[in-house]
Amino acid sequence: MPLSLFRAFGPPPDALVRAPLLAGVMGKGVFMKTYKLMAADGSTIISETPGALGGNSKAGIYGRLDCPAANSALSKGYAQHRVFFANEQDAIQAGYRPCGRCMRAEYKEWKSGPEGNGSYPWKQLPK
Ligand SMILES: [Zn+2]
Repeated sequence: MPLSLFRAFGPPPDALVRAPLLAGVMGKGVFMKTYKLMAADGSTIISETPGALGGNSKAGIYGRLDCPAANSALSKGYAQHRVFFANEQDAIQAGYRPCGRCMRAEYKEWKSGPEGNGSYPWKQLPK
């Protein structure tokens, strides 16, 4: 067959080598989907379940995974420093504050500052 046809339809050479290797690993149950989450102390933990909340490690903000503000920012550089939390308590303890768009009630509580009766450690103060 002409070389050009092989290029168009043939598998890339390394796929032939990788496929059996991957199958072997999966068969042993080693190939498992894991998620990187941020723990309350800011360290990274590997979880078998995805995080419940997203976070912006640059801005120190956490919010819902379906947050419109977060999702529109993903393509504008946010994706590079996005982190995930298993729960809200971890996010708060890690020093993150709630998103003003998707977590209005929590944001209002945080915004009221240390004078309020909120549960935030206010590692970063409202501006
Ligand atoms: Zn949000």
